[in-house]
Amino acid sequence: MDERQQVHALAKPFGLELTDEDIDRLGHFLDLLETANQRMNLTRITDRQEAWTRHVLDSLTLLPFIEAAGATNLIDIGSGGGFPGLPLALVCPELPITLLEATGKKARYLAETADALGLTNITVLCDRAETLGAPDGGGRDAWDVVTARAVGPMPVLLELAMPLVQEGGWLLAIKGQRAAEEIEAADTALRVLRSEVEEMQRTPTGTIVPVRRCGSIPRPYPRRPGEPARAPLGGSSKS
Ligand code: SAM
Repeated sequence: MDERQQVHALAKPFGLELTDEDIDRLGHFLDLLETANQRMNLTRITDRQEAWTRHVLDSLTLLPFIEAAGATNLIDIGSGGGFPGLPLALVCPELPITLLEATGKKARYLAETADALGLTNITVLCDRAETLGAPDGGGRDAWDVVTARAVGPMPVLLELAMPLVQEGGWLLAIKGQRAAEEIEAADTALRVLRSEVEEMQRTPTGTIVPVRRCGSIPRPYPRRPGEPARAPLGGSSKS
C-alpha cells in the first residue's frame, strides 16, 4: 500500500475524507517535521503511522467544529511542532490562521515550515498568549476561533485563550480521555471568564472541548505572563 492508501484507511475511523492532494501536502509537512525534530525537541513520536494518527488526523478532528463556528479567522496557541494549526492551514487554504508560540526557536521553525509548504494563509507570532490578550496587547477579542492542544490544564488554558476570541467566539481544545474531570475543575475559570462548555465530542484520539465566550472578559484577565499557570483560577488543577 502506498502512503495515500494507508492514510485514506487511517482517516476512516475519524470520519475524515481527504483528497490525494491533501495527503501529499500533509505528508510533506511530516517530512519537514521529522527533519527539524533531529535538531530540536518538537515531538516524541517518530513512527510515521503514529504521526499521521496522533498528530495530523487528531488535529483535523477540529474541522467540523471550525466549519460550524463559521470561522473567518483562527489562532492556534502554543503551536509547538505545528499542531493543530499547520494541518488545519493545509486543508483550509482560504482560512487565515495565526500560529502563536512563545519559544523563539519553535516560532522560527513554524515560519520556515509554512514558507517551505507555500502556505500564504499563515502568520506566525512569537509571543505569549497572556501578552497578546492583554487590553493593550493587540490580540484581545480578535479571533473567531482559538485552538489549543497540550498547552495547559483547563483553568490555565481558559485564561490564555478566552481573551483572544470575540464575544460569541470559540475555544476548541483538544483534550484527553479525562476531559470531563478537567472541566469540573474549571468551574471558577469558566464563570470568571464568562464562558460556557458546550457538548464535548470523543474522537479516536481524544476529546474535543468546545467553549463559547458569552460575555466580555473582566479587565484584570489575562494576568501577567506566567501567572495563570502559577496560580490557576479556582486553585491548583491537573492537566
Ligand atoms: N500544541 C502542540 C502539540 O499539541 O503538539 C505543542 C504542545 S507543547 C506541549 C506546548 C507549547 O505551548 C510549547 O511549544 C510552549 O512553548 C507553548 N506555550 C506554553 N505556554 C504558552 C503561552 N503562554 N503562550 C504561547 N505559547 C505557549
